[in-house]
Amino acid sequence: MPADERAIIHVDMDAFYASVEQRDRPELRGLPVIVAGLGPRGVVSTCSYEARRFGVHSAMPTAQARRLCPDGIYVWPDHARYEAVSDQVFEVFHEVTPLVEGLSLDEAFLDVTASQRLLGSVESIGQWLKATIRERTGLNASVGMGPNKLLAKLAGEISKPDGFRRITATHAAAELAPLPVGRLWTVGKVTEQTLHRLGIRTIGELAACDTARLASALGRQVAGLQALARGQDDRCVEPAQAEQSIGAEHTFDVDVAELAMAEAWLLRHCERIAARARQRGLQGRTVTVKLREPPFETYTRQARLPAPSASAGELFGLARGLLVTWWKAQRRPRLRLLGVSLSGFAAERQQDLFDGAPDRRVTDQVQDRINSRFGTGSLVRAGVLKTREQD
Ligand SMILES: [Mg+2]
Repeated sequence: MPADERAIIHVDMDAFYASVEQRDRPELRGLPVIVAGLGPRGVVSTCSYEARRFGVHSAMPTAQARRLCPDGIYVWPDHARYEAVSDQVFEVFHEVTPLVEGLSLDEAFLDVTASQRLLGSVESIGQWLKATIRERTGLNASVGMGPNKLLAKLAGEISKPDGFRRITATHAAAELAPLPVGRLWTVGKVTEQTLHRLGIRTIGELAACDTARLASALGRQVAGLQALARGQDDRCVEPAQAEQSIGAEHTFDVDVAELAMAEAWLLRHCERIAARARQRGLQGRTVTVKLREPPFETYTRQARLPAPSASAGELFGLARGLLVTWWKAQRRPRLRLLGVSLSGFAAERQQDLFDGAPDRRVTDQVQDRINSRFGTGSLVRAGVLKTREQD
């Protein structure tokens, strides 16, 4: 099949974290809501469209957002709640196709080429996704459709918020031509500046420019760049990508200089990761601990479990060893950031009653059941409570 006959859908939830907050707290609707780290080093995660009017955007330091929008409602991120909504949204995706490539909690590419025979045109699949997400979560998703990833994502972006748009191969060049060249996938700041120096400001000008002239300034990437500028993109939707690792990390407002506190955070991360792995039916063997000393020196330490696991206790046992070894080797150990991730997944094995630490698994299962009934975080190991002093 020619690449242009593929049907790709890009779904991206609108102002995801902020919309979840506005959904769950009606008094916040219509107000500028900024979900952000609220400490001195905090950064904005997401903000509502009302806040964007003040010039606030994600990745901006919270202090700067407060100057731009002093009357905004500032909210700590509640990742467990966003992850639960994300799981609902991804469930909807998987009802349409197994070819889902998650890019983040609220954004994914879906290859629905083969689904069309059963479910109808790409537009009707797109409509169904939008309506079903709205029905099950109460939230708006923007849906872009196209013959490849580049055009599907662009279609969603230019119709946001509450977007719904399809760009066909025939109209690709005309849609792309007037857009600034910096909007093109793979064009970063450096390439953008080089193109500007050559007098190229729009994607249309890049597509039309003489290849030899460009090659002297940009080298080998020219052919690929001009193909993208014409709307050609052969990248596949890669469903495995979302499951390559599951991680959690936290940047401390005040550097952690006490090993017991670092261990408590490590346990909290391990519980979260293990619960997510169990939710997805995954077990991993590789545990990676990420340690950042102030200001920015980052270390990673990795070890393998004797067998694949999704047990918080087993993950913590290994991760703690890595942390303690690192801690003792530092002259004056301090942490600005601590993270853990689990990777090297195998599909979950049938549980064997005689197989490794059954008591730990039972604890995890009880914890999952209580947390799914009363909300994530209702039941945590006692060691984790220490981290709530700093939360
Ligand atoms: Mg989004």
